[in-house]
Amino acid sequence: MVKYTCFLCDKKISPDLMGRRVRCPYCGSKVLFKSRSVKTVVKAV
Ligand SMILES: [Zn+2]
Repeated sequence: MVKYTCFLCDKKISPDLMGRRVRCPYCGSKVLFKSRSVKTVVKAV
């Protein structure tokens, strides 16, 4: 299942929380991005 992360308050939002509208239920922001289980790790070597 794809989860979203709010760009403003940085909270993770499940799609069933949003309903039809893509909007953060916490701060009302419409700026969300999909968060995947695969993490992008940047290592400074
Ligand atoms: Zn938010």
